Amino acid sequence: MGRRNRREEVPELGEIRLGGFRRSETHSDGDWIVQQLTGTSATKPYRCPGCDQEIAIGTPHVVAWRDSDVDGRRHWHKACWGNRQNRRPGGR
Ligand SMILES: [Zn+2]
Repeated sequence: MGRRNRREEVPELGEIRLGGFRRSETHSDGDWIVQQLTGTSATKPYRCPGCDQEIAIGTPHVVAWRDSDVDGRRHWHKACWGNRQNRRPGGR
């Protein structure tokens, strides 16, 4: 008793409103499926291809893969995935 106990895992409203945890995005290099992962589902460390650094366990992040290439999916920091989209050719 006196132990904090969550009744249920309640998904965050903001994510539901985006249409579930998964959505498709069109980029200059094709169509991508982007899935949001909450911290609780991040049970392994992954390397982010955007910044080449590790995504720590428990960090909410995104998994993205090209439509039809599920095996090629990558884990990204949310910020890095966002930067990828905003990256301009010849920028910096
Ligand atoms: Zn990153």
